[in-house]
Amino acid sequence: MSDSAGTSRSGRCLACGAGAKPGDAQAVNCPRCGLTLLRVPGTSSFAPAVIPAVSREDAWRALARMRRLEAVAGVAEIRSARILMVPFWRQVDEGVRSVSRPGVVLSAAELLPVGLPGLSPSRQQVAGLDVERRTRTGDALGRLEENPGRVDAGVVAVVRGPGGLSGLEALEAAAAPSAGGWTLYYYPVWSFHYVFYSKEYFHVVDATTGRPVGPAREVSWPLVAWTAAASQAGAFLAALPLIGAAAALPAWLVSLGVMRWLLRRQRRA
Ligand SMILES: [Zn+2]
Repeated sequence: MSDSAGTSRSGRCLACGAGAKPGDAQAVNCPRCGLTLLRVPGTSSFAPAVIPAVSREDAWRALARMRRLEAVAGVAEIRSARILMVPFWRQVDEGVRSVSRPGVVLSAAELLPVGLPGLSPSRQQVAGLDVERRTRTGDALGRLEENPGRVDAGVVAVVRGPGGLSGLEALEAAAAPSAGGWTLYYYPVWSFHYVFYSKEYFHVVDATTGRPVGPAREVSWPLVAWTAAASQAGAFLAALPLIGAAAALPAWLVSLGVMRWLLRRQRRA
């Protein structure tokens, strides 16, 4: 009888190791540890998830305030807005488990395409992103109602594991007992795709704190614009005697490169 459900319908909680029979559900409350679990796509593992606490409206308002979109009402047009569940690895040292002791958090996915900077052993803080603190205790994760079932969110694929493992290898290791203390957690962000003055933007807001994250945070636009313009003029003048008016193209490319570099630098701050 226990096998009749088939392996694809059974699952294992990556937080406590309890077996679950979630059927086709994407989300389930663990019968043993009580955390709300999200199915890791393509596997029979279920990882604990931090529950979104911020509405779409509040997240957009925070983003609009930070990006100064509200000053020109009606110009910014949202193309899509959805919750993304982003995977992170967290190392829990069972020996010295404590509410106040921070753990090590690593990105389990390529996050730049999602609009997020990654977390690594040398970079544990991203302004606006609250992964470490929220995943520290079960209480801070939150819990969905009795039968979560389907979750209306995009689930970002797990591609990386700790210690150079692939996502799949790390998931297999995490499902085994004594896995080195690494547990996968899903963390929710609001992902906004919008158009502002006919330019497209992808920006992210932390869905538990309501704060814009990483690239969406405040950027010193005057500095970026001025430096890019200056480097453009410089490159144009340097190349002009050699290739004449065709210097416009390399000059434009240089300014683009400088602008990208500047933006990245500021976003890292
Ligand atoms: Zn559990």
